[in-house]
Amino acid sequence: MRLENKVALISGGARGMGAVEAKLFSVEGAKVVIGDVLEEEGRRTEAEINEAGGECLFVPLDVTSESQWQAAVEAAVSRFGKLDILVNNAGIYRTERVEEISEELWDQVMGINAKGVFLGTKHAIPEMRNAGGGSIINISSVTWMMGRPFRLDYVTSKAGVVGLTHAIAPELGEFDINVNAVVLGLVQSDSALKVYGAEHFQKFKERQVFKRSLTPQDACGAVVFLASDDAEMITGQSLVVDGGLVFH
Ligand code: NAD
Repeated sequence: MRLENKVALISGGARGMGAVEAKLFSVEGAKVVIGDVLEEEGRRTEAEINEAGGECLFVPLDVTSESQWQAAVEAAVSRFGKLDILVNNAGIYRTERVEEISEELWDQVMGINAKGVFLGTKHAIPEMRNAGGGSIINISSVTWMMGRPFRLDYVTSKAGVVGLTHAIAPELGEFDINVNAVVLGLVQSDSALKVYGAEHFQKFKERQVFKRSLTPQDACGAVVFLASDDAEMITGQSLVVDGGLVFH
């Protein structure tokens, strides 16, 4: 098992790819804390993992709140004794035109998708230092490399996630903490399907090297790898998982 004896905190772990990551981490031997604003889904995912023989704790977490991050990290350490891995997965999609993005919406998207990553990282670091090292994995999107229309706030926030990864990695080397981004192509999660529609998936599939849509499982394997000891000398990197969409 690749994550045996490790303790992981996954933001946005109630559903979608965060829940898939939590389940994969558990199968690989990790104890998992999932933090999310969706309590009912979060408790359901927690129960599914525990019933399958894993160890999982749900904590209510709005990633824009510094005090809730502090409480989530404290809950992880008080339940499982330490914190080794943070996956900054929580995020929201938007598809407005530039002129339709209100200041409030801009702040909301940047707050969840970018500030949330900063706050989670800030509060995970002391516990990772106590644990003698750790891994931080931030979830970004290839849209920041492609320049998609109708996504200004989303694309800016996901470019910020990569910038943040590059900026933090050199600072955390002395504590044996590696920091990487997983930059995803279009992944067939329920949320992405609802927001973008099946036609959009068809179009993307045709542009990929591999002519099938990515599943959440396809996307989450890279997260497990970067969280494992196999990746301990990898830091400040963006691992693009997109079925071969952006390089050609
Ligand atoms: P999803 O909507 O199923 O999952 C996102 C999770 O984040 C949800 O559980 C949601 O409740 C949670 N969340 C939202 N706001 C939050 C907040 N303020 N505090 C805590 N949790 C919050 O979406 P998904 O498709 O599974 O996406 C997961 C991540 O992958 C997101 O960061 C998304 O931007 C990124 N991503 C997805 C795709 C794709 O095609 N699906 C592509 C690139 C990147």
